[in-house]
Amino acid sequence: MIVDELVKFSNYYGKNSALVLAGGGNTSAKKNGFMYVKGSGTQLATITAEKFVKVKLSKIEDIFRKKYPDNDAAREAMVLEDLMDSRCPGEEHKRPSVETMLHAIFEQTFVLHLHPALVNGLTCGKGGETLAKEILGEKFIWVDACKPGYILSKICFDKMAEYRNKYSEPCDMILLQNHGIFIAADSVKALDDKLNSVMSALKSRVKVQPDFTPVAEDEAYIGELKNILQGSVCQIACRQAEIFTRDEESASVLLKPFTPDHIVYCKAYPLFIGKGDNVAQAVSQYSKKFGFNPRVIVAEGHGVFCCGADEKQSNTVRALFEDAMKIAVYTGSFGGVLHMSGELTDFIVNWEVESYRSKQN
Ligand SMILES: [Zn+2]
Repeated sequence: MIVDELVKFSNYYGKNSALVLAGGGNTSAKKNGFMYVKGSGTQLATITAEKFVKVKLSKIEDIFRKKYPDNDAAREAMVLEDLMDSRCPGEEHKRPSVETMLHAIFEQTFVLHLHPALVNGLTCGKGGETLAKEILGEKFIWVDACKPGYILSKICFDKMAEYRNKYSEPCDMILLQNHGIFIAADSVKALDDKLNSVMSALKSRVKVQPDFTPVAEDEAYIGELKNILQGSVCQIACRQAEIFTRDEESASVLLKPFTPDHIVYCKAYPLFIGKGDNVAQAVSQYSKKFGFNPRVIVAEGHGVFCCGADEKQSNTVRALFEDAMKIAVYTGSFGGVLHMSGELTDFIVNWEVESYRSKQN
């Protein structure tokens, strides 16, 4: 059964923390005009057959032919409604992944979408597109950072058609700037081969590796933050964090988001606290400005701290921010850091679909 294969490879990649963190990434399989796609709010590591949503492909194709309003909120609400309408009878209690439309545009049977730190070192690097061609060859689609949801899907849909015309074969890889990678194949084995070849090609180009050698925790600072925040606080206590927090300039690379996942789990902007600053005052100013407490605190001379309402949340923040730190280092091998723009960051912060996802995880 195709769904059994889908569950198996989803769990396999989902359990690999170099490829998938928290609810990130998604998978799909197509058969006879239908597609089984990961449900929103599920995790690849533990997903079961029932958590995939069966959708009708022709209904998703209709979305690409339809005209939608220019207004972001109105357009996304209508598209979401049409996407929900693509669900087959009996699937109404599930919500297909926000990236369902991107799966549907591939002609191949299996599609795997991931946000690995190594790949995002490339997609968040200033030289991303040029270097991708040099390292991976010409046969892929590159998409510059843009609004997710309908806009991104439509750009990919159009580029897919261009690619087919140019090469007379379906495209099997999309690289999304400041986001991740989509790959597709007709067998699970071919999918795995493709992923491995991309990962090893990128690995061979990395000049500097992030240094996660453990260092002592700053217990006094953790205690102070716990007191102020009244929640769970943990530290990313490693050499790399020491390097990033030795002064404000070194820290600046961590103070803006790289990908939508960092926004969903860590919030868009970490709080930077300078050496002589009053910690309680800095936290209170941040909370007043944003309306919530910081999830990540980058403290000069102290380190990087991850905060949450409970231990589960602070650990998820930690996993995602370690990922951001890796990406920051990897970009050094791919032309230097390129953050998400402020405009795009605002769009994602306000996007209902992503707030749904963060609530589910
Ligand atoms: Zn994604």
